Amino acid sequence: VRRAWRAIWIALVLAMGGVVISTAIAEFIGWSGVVMYDAAAPQRFVVVAGRVVHAYDIRGAGWRYLYWTVTTPGHAAVEQYMYDKHISYVDLRLAPSYLHADPPETLPRWAHLWDPADWPPDQDFFRRPREYTEIEVGAGWPLPAFGMDWGNARPNEYRGGMELATKPGSGLRFRLWRPIPLGLLLDSLFWGAPLVALVGAARLWTQVRRRRRGACTACGYDLRGLADGALCPECGAAGKGGTYTLPAAGF
Ligand SMILES: [Zn+2]
Repeated sequence: VRRAWRAIWIALVLAMGGVVISTAIAEFIGWSGVVMYDAAAPQRFVVVAGRVVHAYDIRGAGWRYLYWTVTTPGHAAVEQYMYDKHISYVDLRLAPSYLHADPPETLPRWAHLWDPADWPPDQDFFRRPREYTEIEVGAGWPLPAFGMDWGNARPNEYRGGMELATKPGSGLRFRLWRPIPLGLLLDSLFWGAPLVALVGAARLWTQVRRRRRGACTACGYDLRGLADGALCPECGAAGKGGTYTLPAAGF
């Protein structure tokens, strides 16, 4: 029973280790300034609640940066026309049926754009130019484990993180603290598993070394001079030459 508890305790410590590593990686990516806007990035047009989320989907190693607005299908059709033709301005009206919407999987589930309550204020009522943009960042490796967002309709209102001062030539720098549950879980398993293997290998190596020098594999006590199969006088584990049995003490 004591062994089972010890195994659970070790597993918990290693899981914490996975969380710590995943968090450190996400924070490092935010701190490093690698996250950068890119106007040439792929653009997504996904229908959400009868409107269209139009997102610049910018990706890098360990991060994803979404620069998005919410528009009517008619306005989104014009945006998509410009995207398709590689032009930045057009004076044109298009039927909403021009729009060929992207499947929902093209945008990450952790983004806040799925919930209309998180959308910036309406910008299409008077066909105003695009002024309300929401920015969303996810960081972590292999999957984004933490995310934050902010919009220019709510100046300085950061949700899930904060921006840091930029350095010359660097991209955005930020700290984030809002976990993306599934991403953090999978990253923690990803980093926790090698930790388990590493600790297991270290324990095994210790046991091999103890056996080689004629010591108890459980506690390291010197068993030379004892009869084959004798129990370890220090901890009660089966010692020299014997097959391993549970220690008599405590049972
Ligand atoms: Zn021993």
